[in-house]
Amino acid sequence: MARLNGTVALVTGGARGIGAGVVRRLMEEGARVAIGDILEKEGEALAAELGDAARFVRLDVSDSSSWSQALDATRQAFGPVTLLVNNAGILTVRPLEETPEADIRRIYDVNLLGPFLGMQAVVPDMKEAGGGSIVNIASASGLIGMPMQAAYSSSKWGLRGLAKTAAVELGRYGIRVNSVHPGVIRSPLTAGLDEAMFEVYAVARIGEPADIGDAVVFLASDEASFVTGADLPVDGGFVLGPVPSA
Ligand code: NAD
Repeated sequence: MARLNGTVALVTGGARGIGAGVVRRLMEEGARVAIGDILEKEGEALAAELGDAARFVRLDVSDSSSWSQALDATRQAFGPVTLLVNNAGILTVRPLEETPEADIRRIYDVNLLGPFLGMQAVVPDMKEAGGGSIVNIASASGLIGMPMQAAYSSSKWGLRGLAKTAAVELGRYGIRVNSVHPGVIRSPLTAGLDEAMFEVYAVARIGEPADIGDAVVFLASDEASFVTGADLPVDGGFVLGPVPSA
C-alpha cells in the first residue's frame, strides 16, 4: 500500500542530490511532487524522467515572491501543498574568522530564511486543509559543533529552532514539523570526499539520498502522526563519534 497517496509535496533543492532522492521516494509512495529549484535544466530533466506526477517549478527559496509563484504553479498542477520538504541548502568550508560576510549572509538566506519564508507561504493552505506536514533537512552540523562550518552549522541550528517553535505553534492546526539530520550523504555537495574516512563510524559507509528519502517518507506518513518537533539523525552514527578501536 502506498503510504502517501493524495499527498502533494514540494521539495526544495529537488533537482539533484539528496532532494532528488527524496523526490523519488515520495513518488514511489504515491505522492505527486513539485521539484523546486534554481537549476532549471536538471529540474526539468528529472521531472520529465519521473512522469505526470512530477513537475519542475522554478524556486529561489530566499525570495518570498518566488515562493508565491512556485506555490501557484504547484496548486495549478496538483492542488495545495500538504507536504513541504525544506531541503535546499548551501555550504562554505572556511575558518570562522575568514568566512566572508557575503557567504554568511547567503548561507543564512538559503538555509534559514528560505525555510522560514516557505513555511509562511504554505501554512495558510495547510491550515485551511486542516493539516499538513513540514520536514526540514538540517544536518548533523545542526546537532553538534562542526569546525570550519560556523555559518553552515549555525544556520542548521537555527533551522532546528525554527522547526521546534513551528511544531508548538502549528500543532493545533494539524500541522507537524520535524527535522532530519543527515550525516555524510553521497551527493554533488560531498563529491570528492574520501569515503574510507567514514568507515570509522558505527554504520561503516556513507549514506545515500534514499536513506534520507526513507526518513522523510516516515515523517510525512500517518505512521508519524504522533511525531512533531523531533530531530531524526540519519547519519550512520556520525554524531556519536568514531567507534573506539579494540
Ligand atoms: P546539493 O548541492 O547536491 O543540492 C542542493 C540543491 O539545492 C541543489 O539542487 C541546488 O540547486 C539547490 N539550491 C541551492 N540554492 C537554492 C535556492 N536559493 N533555491 C532553491 N534551490 C536551491 O546538496 P545535497 O548534498 O543534496 O544537500 C541537500 C540538503 O542536505 C542541504 O540542505 C544540505 O545542507 C543537507 N545536508 C547534506 C549533507 C551531505 O552529506 N550531502 C549532509 C548534511 C546535510
